Amino acid sequence: MAVLITDTCINCGACIDECPVEAIVDEDDNPTGEEIYYVYADKCVECVGHHDEPACATACPTEGCIVWDEVKESPEHREDITDEQRSSHEPVVE
Ligand code: SF4
Ligand code: SF4
Repeated sequence: MAVLITDTCINCGACIDECPVEAIVDEDDNPTGEEIYYVYADKCVECVGHHDEPACATACPTEGCIVWDEVKESPEHREDITDEQRSSHEPVVE
């Protein structure tokens, strides 16, 4: 995974156009069937090389909605984020 959109997502759409690699889909295209936006972990690069921090989380108006997740399929990830931050799903933006 990479960053994860949690079920507090209100489907506002603020994040989707901010993603430089088109890793985000809306609730209609969410492969899990949940009625929330979704990040494809095999596309998300955690905005490495694009922004100082994940642009989706900066744009999101819902506090704590976008969290760090474990690195598995991510093509790029932020080295300064600890395993603990990822396993505990710490919000990307506090
Ligand atoms: S962290 Fe960056 S690359 Fe990943 S989904 Fe958010 S905006 Fe896209
Ligand atoms: S900006 Fe946040 S609340 Fe809005 S759709 Fe994206 S993840 Fe959901």
